[in-house]
Amino acid sequence: MVKSTVTETKPDSGESGGAGAARKPEKAKKSYRPFIIQAWCKKCGICVAFCPKHVFRCDDRGVHVDKPEECIGCRFCEMHCPDLAISVQERESAPGVKAS
Ligand code: SF4
Ligand code: SF4
Repeated sequence: MVKSTVTETKPDSGESGGAGAARKPEKAKKSYRPFIIQAWCKKCGICVAFCPKHVFRCDDRGVHVDKPEECIGCRFCEMHCPDLAISVQERESAPGVKAS
């Protein structure tokens, strides 16, 4: 018996990078930013200790959001604040637009 040498070809899936390659649609980018309600904050420093990205800074005037651009939205600060003084807000930017 003779084997067929004809191979089946699939339509371009876009993975080959050929001329007909379809681009994957860009996803909207998310960014996060914590806000502190200063009137509720008792300056315990728990949020400073829990934040894995060192977004907060503590000085003699209290706790401040120092590096909001570093926030990854894990919400550890929000979950551990005993006074519910932190709110982490999420923003979504259109593809190709940097979230502010
Ligand atoms: S955990 Fe809450 S109360 Fe404590 S310093 Fe942070 S914001 Fe203030
Ligand atoms: S959400 Fe996470 S990364 Fe952002 S400030 Fe809170 S603890 Fe830090």
